[in-house]
Amino acid sequence: MDLQTDEIIGQSLQVLKETSSFLSDVNGCHRDQVFDSLAAILSTPNKVHKAFLRIPLENGNVRRIPAYRIQHNDTLGPYKGGIRFHESVNETEVANLAALMTLKNALHEIPFGGGKGGIIINPQHYTAKELNLICKKYVQYFNDILGPDKDIPAPDMGSGEREMDWMMSEYKSINPGKPYLGSFTGKSTVSGGSLGRKEATGKGVYFSFRYMLHHYANDHREWLTGTDNRFARSLLALADHPRPLTVAVQGFGNVGAVAALEAHRCSYLNGKVVAVSDRNVTLFHADGLPVPVLYEYSSRHWGDLPKTAEELATLGVHAQILDREQVLFLDVDVLFLAALQDQVREDNVEQVRARFIVEGANAPITGKADAALANRDIIVIPDILANAGGVIVSYFEWLQDRETQFYDEEQVYNLLYGKMQGTMKGILPAFFADGLTLRQNCYKHAVKKLSTALYRQGKLF
Ligand code: GLU
Repeated sequence: MDLQTDEIIGQSLQVLKETSSFLSDVNGCHRDQVFDSLAAILSTPNKVHKAFLRIPLENGNVRRIPAYRIQHNDTLGPYKGGIRFHESVNETEVANLAALMTLKNALHEIPFGGGKGGIIINPQHYTAKELNLICKKYVQYFNDILGPDKDIPAPDMGSGEREMDWMMSEYKSINPGKPYLGSFTGKSTVSGGSLGRKEATGKGVYFSFRYMLHHYANDHREWLTGTDNRFARSLLALADHPRPLTVAVQGFGNVGAVAALEAHRCSYLNGKVVAVSDRNVTLFHADGLPVPVLYEYSSRHWGDLPKTAEELATLGVHAQILDREQVLFLDVDVLFLAALQDQVREDNVEQVRARFIVEGANAPITGKADAALANRDIIVIPDILANAGGVIVSYFEWLQDRETQFYDEEQVYNLLYGKMQGTMKGILPAFFADGLTLRQNCYKHAVKKLSTALYRQGKLF
């Protein structure tokens, strides 16, 4: 992953240092020293836990699978973040993702710290029984550091409600008599999960875009027109662009597919999702794609889109099959990045033609590419703002588990949108006034929140 923890934290602190009088009024407090301590605290995780899970396979072989839990920071509450099941997982990546969780939770004022887990496997290469054992072993190895008030894992790439159910069940057996419902989030509703959790990230990603482009632009049109801010001009240009707006979505997993469905259904866009992609192909049609048909297909095929002309013909879908990377370079109004990290990089950013970008994945744009997009006045809604729907509803799940009282789906989505809207209302006035990118504004806000808490807790002098 290109975006390193120290780079993220360094950038946030730099922005904070340059733009705020933060802590300057505190007697005996040396600003530079405070920022150095902050950098030291936030650029390193509190704890790195690694284990090799010993798994007897069904064919009789035994494998030792590397697994991590990295606890970045717990200033604002118990560590919180998903467990990624993927072959490319490594310690640096998990540490960076854990730091992003700390910032994400601080930004949205969720009372959690940041953590992340990872298991180095391709889940498709294991049977359900073996996966169940991997989940159980993960909990056995990390049991001492996990718990509803210590560290609360959730799904991430490659894992879902089935794995969380298994893990919670193992936690419950190892810790008889202790509260267990809130030990994992993203569970199925049968096991104490929340309605709407599965769709929450994709819905939140789309909401962040709709809120900014539709509600915020319209409600603040006069003020936005009056500011001499380049991003305000970009937003208004898109808000006034003739409809329908065209949308491309990279990634058709739990986040991308739901965001694509939302965009397809949104009357404001007139259903013009012109491109979607997965690990194999990009499907493109200038008049728009039948997203529900593709969604239905992918749920029956391990999340894959149809990849041959024959499969498309059988489904009655008219689309061109392009190379999977092509989704990034189409001439569209809005691009949702909901696949992996490091997709838009220094070497391909000049080919990106979208006028507005939303990060559904974590860190899909590298630092240098981000700067290049900002130079072209392209607005990017960053990961920690756009894709927080998952962890926000995880928080609601944890609350419901504590109360053993459950909300209906409408309540969950209203709470989710209310939370995201609150964050955006807090950030956007500064963003359209100060010339910094939205990402820098989010970092600044999150680090400010963290540093204030650290100072109040007597951990910063
Ligand atoms: N894995 C998700 C994320 O990156 C959700 C984390 C959670 O619900 O704790 O935000």
